[in-house]
Amino acid sequence: MADFVQVIDPGHGGHDPGAVANGLREKDLTLKIALYARDYIHENYENVKVYLTRDKDVFLGLSERADFANRLKADHFCSIHINAGGGKGFESFIYNGNYSNKPKTQALRNVLHDTIISETDFANRGKKEANFAVLRETNMSAVLTENGFIDNTFDATYLKSDFNLRKIAIAHAHGLAKAHGWKLKPKKQASKLSKSGVYYRVITGSFENRENAEQRVKELKAKGYDAFIDVYKK
Ligand SMILES: [Zn+2]
Repeated sequence: MADFVQVIDPGHGGHDPGAVANGLREKDLTLKIALYARDYIHENYENVKVYLTRDKDVFLGLSERADFANRLKADHFCSIHINAGGGKGFESFIYNGNYSNKPKTQALRNVLHDTIISETDFANRGKKEANFAVLRETNMSAVLTENGFIDNTFDATYLKSDFNLRKIAIAHAHGLAKAHGWKLKPKKQASKLSKSGVYYRVITGSFENRENAEQRVKELKAKGYDAFIDVYKK
């Protein structure tokens, strides 16, 4: 099966800083979010290839960004921006015209939007439509996210933390994965994850009765945790 091609487009760059306020520049924030999202997607999902319209601080015109995705015959396009102008929270946009894949574009956006709202601390400003060039000129389903207001004190404080930028990126990754049905890569063995050779085990219970231990393992697995029974003899 051919890889799913996801284009992520960090807004602005180079001589175009985008919105600037509170010591922050939109172009820096969008790039960080895009890089985090790309790396997270490649690390966690199989058969997905993420292409960024830019992976450094360079200027790109709007049509160049759309052309990039069209040339790649991408399956989906996601542009990342930070808002400004006196508001607060998150909103997302799709193209406001009439086009054949609009219902699909809408459905994908709804999943992404709802995931980002549930995984970040942004207020929900709603699902919107606009005549933006990158949305209009891309041939595939396309969405543009506005991740908080750089000139709002609450949002700017949130955006100053790399931890939160990563959270926003991961929320995009989770939302896109859910929208497109991406499959998680099989879990790596602990031995492959540890470079130091040191492991930290978390024990959640000791039981005299094996059935009780099995019950605990079942509960943990149901919650998505890896668990196993280690028999200990005195
Ligand atoms: Zn912007």
